Amino acid sequence: MRIVVIGGVAGGMSAAARARRLDEHAEIIVLEQGAYVSFANCGLPYHLSGEIAARDALLLHTPTSLAASLNLDVRTGHRVTSIDSGAQKVTIQAGDDTYLLPYDALLLSPGAVAVSPPIEGLDHPAVHTLRTVPDVDALRDRVEELLGARGQTGQAPRAVVIGAGFIGLEAVEALTTRGLQVHLVELADHVLPPLDAELAPLLAEELAAHGVDLRLGVSAEAIAAAVGADRESGEEGSTGAVTVTLSDGADLAADLVIVNVGVRPASALAREAGLELGPTGAIRVDADQHTSDPHIWAVGDAVEVTQAITGARVPVPLAGPANRQGRRAADSICGRRTTPQAAVLGTAIVRVFGLTAATTGANQATLRRAGIAHEVVHIHPGHHAGYYPGSEQVHLVASFAPDGTLLGAQGVGREGVDKRIDILATAIRAGMGADDLAELELAYAPPYGSAKDPVNMLGFVAQNVLDATMPQWQAQELDEAIAATLVLDVRSRPEFAEGHLEGALNIPHLELRARLDEVAALAGGRKISVYCASGVRSYLATRVLRGVGFDARNLSGGWLTLQAVHPNL
Ligand SMILES: Cc1cc2nc3c(=O)[nH]c(=O)nc-3n(C[C@H](O)[C@H](O)[C@H](O)COP(=O)(O)OP(=O)(O)OC[C@H]3O[C@@H](n4cnc5c(N)ncnc54)[C@H](O)[C@@H]3O)c2cc1C
Repeated sequence: MRIVVIGGVAGGMSAAARARRLDEHAEIIVLEQGAYVSFANCGLPYHLSGEIAARDALLLHTPTSLAASLNLDVRTGHRVTSIDSGAQKVTIQAGDDTYLLPYDALLLSPGAVAVSPPIEGLDHPAVHTLRTVPDVDALRDRVEELLGARGQTGQAPRAVVIGAGFIGLEAVEALTTRGLQVHLVELADHVLPPLDAELAPLLAEELAAHGVDLRLGVSAEAIAAAVGADRESGEEGSTGAVTVTLSDGADLAADLVIVNVGVRPASALAREAGLELGPTGAIRVDADQHTSDPHIWAVGDAVEVTQAITGARVPVPLAGPANRQGRRAADSICGRRTTPQAAVLGTAIVRVFGLTAATTGANQATLRRAGIAHEVVHIHPGHHAGYYPGSEQVHLVASFAPDGTLLGAQGVGREGVDKRIDILATAIRAGMGADDLAELELAYAPPYGSAKDPVNMLGFVAQNVLDATMPQWQAQELDEAIAATLVLDVRSRPEFAEGHLEGALNIPHLELRARLDEVAALAGGRKISVYCASGVRSYLATRVLRGVGFDARNLSGGWLTLQAVHPNL
């Protein structure tokens, strides 16, 4: 049997390696248009930053090592230009040569192509992208050149990064670490658009604390060569620098621009071959990665998956799914039992200087768009026991269906976010809900967690919300709370003095039982909207008030979440 693989990185190489382990006799040919195979594209930003110092560390294998270890015929610089599915042949362009290659099984893992935004001047040499080894080589060369010139001028080189998604943020961190002064431009109203709006301001603060100039809600419209005195020589003329003009009219001077505004499935070959595509342009596959042609399989960024919570068919361009799909496709090609493709959660994580942001399942915007009923809870516990030194707040947001099923979760913090999101991803996959989270038995000693882990706390809070032990209100309902209810701030007097909601009554929670008459007089029969710093003291107060007959509700996430949603409070 001859297996031909198009694309020699994440999904393609997983499939080729697995196929060899399953079938010692198959002829396996991997066609890769680029110069490198099996490279660590997820590691590219960390080579740019210098954390991964050795370029070779990114190159996990070469055609020679793959021939030696797996008996694979890996052909770099070989681009497939068409597929004749009827004749079971691909046409290949290799330098000036064109040849046909017949296959018994064809696996497509061509990945994604970068979205090219409508910005004038994208072809300027100062404009880069960050997707491949040659991309990072070019970026590192440019950064070295600029840092060298800095020795003469003393000025930090300037960069503009367009797009504040996962890779854009990694690029910002890398360039800042190298000593560049970075502007970050994002069209959405918050960084990392997949993150819920109330967590994103934490990342914005961290970026600002590291000197990054953040421009939100604007697009880059044009990139033009800057004319003026050369920074090195002081002579007039073209400087190698550019001016990036934004939609709000601002001009940003830059020596380097990185554009990363997302990707779309590389499905042109599949389309031309007549394979079925979904409405997003991704290749349609079944649970075994089979396309609409019985001899062709497809995996990775180019294919559709089913989104776990909404059931939508979308591409999810992440390394984990691509690798697992590659393995599954090889099982299917080799006639083995497969573990059918499960719905994809889109679990993802990024480091932004000292903070980690991670997400799994559906975010609130997705749930709203899909019309899925849900309750959102916000908590800000320590990542381990507060009495043990070094406890850092973990900011967690989770959405639950009315029956308690966990639908999605997100976290931001300095420590312990990865562990919680991975637990919550596992919980969603297992169909768990609030009761299960409350009862999860997680490893605990003071340096690692708490006897009530933040994951348990999410379960407890959700239980309280769902069974109406603790009705809550959301920061987004602030106007209604002020207009129609008595707003009660149960923080201490010094906390209240530092900032509070206008018109709020301040009764520190320990004084509440003694001052209920005051509350009754001011409420005048209205609902009471309670808040504190993080939602814990206000929960206790809500229970006291409800216990004596008031219609009280607690602000989810407290002042911390309120300030994130209403930064001008
Ligand atoms: C900078 C960067 C950082 C990332 N970080 C993360 C991360 O931290 N976590 C995460 O989950 N994901 C991350 N990703 C995404 C992840 O790398 C991709 O989801 C994954 O590589 C997709 O695998 P794939 O096999 O579909 O495509 P790829 O790995 O991109 O491989 C596709 C290959 O196919 C080749 N090809 C395309 N068309 C042809 C053709 N016609 N003929 C021959 N060859 C062809 C391409 O040259 C390419 O090398 C990152 C991506 C980048 C670029």
